[in-house]
Amino acid sequence: MPVTTPPMLTIALTKGRILQETLPLLAAADIRPAEDIGKSRKLQFETNHKQVRLLVLRGIDVPTYVQFGAADLGVAGKDTLMEHGGDGLYEPIDLKIARCRLMTASIAGAPAKSGRIKVATKYVNIAKHYYAARGRQVDVIKLYGAMELAPLLDLADEIVDIVDTGNTLRANGLEPREHIADISSRLIVNKAAMKTKHRQIETVLNAVAAAL
Ligand code: AMP
Repeated sequence: MPVTTPPMLTIALTKGRILQETLPLLAAADIRPAEDIGKSRKLQFETNHKQVRLLVLRGIDVPTYVQFGAADLGVAGKDTLMEHGGDGLYEPIDLKIARCRLMTASIAGAPAKSGRIKVATKYVNIAKHYYAARGRQVDVIKLYGAMELAPLLDLADEIVDIVDTGNTLRANGLEPREHIADISSRLIVNKAAMKTKHRQIETVLNAVAAAL
């Protein structure tokens, strides 16, 4: 009987702090990059398994790579998954790493503004849904970074952003207001790959779940 080689399994990882917490989990599941990711500018890495490769991407792109099958599996923050919407993905495992909160924030001590407000954020979809569900009228302003500056310069009344210790907000004269969601990183799977590469994906899911 001919021996068929298993198909390539591609895992998309989020670079930065999530990556630092993901690599030990993958190692515990016996998946290790063939070289030091931190010392390379490459975006694709071979692993100790011939049929498993890793991609290192910006977090916001991970759900898109997995949705369209460019990667079979991914590790992404719940914030980026909420913003993406989750089409074409399963989200089977909460890795419970990179935990933080998604919150609204405004100038410390300032009274809450009534009526239509301006909200600056990189989470445009989340912000639109959140305020609409509360019947609040908002103009959402898309920013890619340094959200904390927006209320100080009157670009916005509030921001929607990730809060961990709250130090970044405090250092910029802001305070957290409303809690939108608890965030942690999730293992995600392309829906079609879950069927076509079921045995390989199940092996990884079981190993990661055991490592947790
Ligand atoms: P902190 O000053 O500890 O509240 O951290 C806030 C900043 O760190 C945020 O603006 C985020 O950009 C970043 N940050 C903190 N925790 C996370 C996380 N788990 N995932 C992504 N970004 C985070």
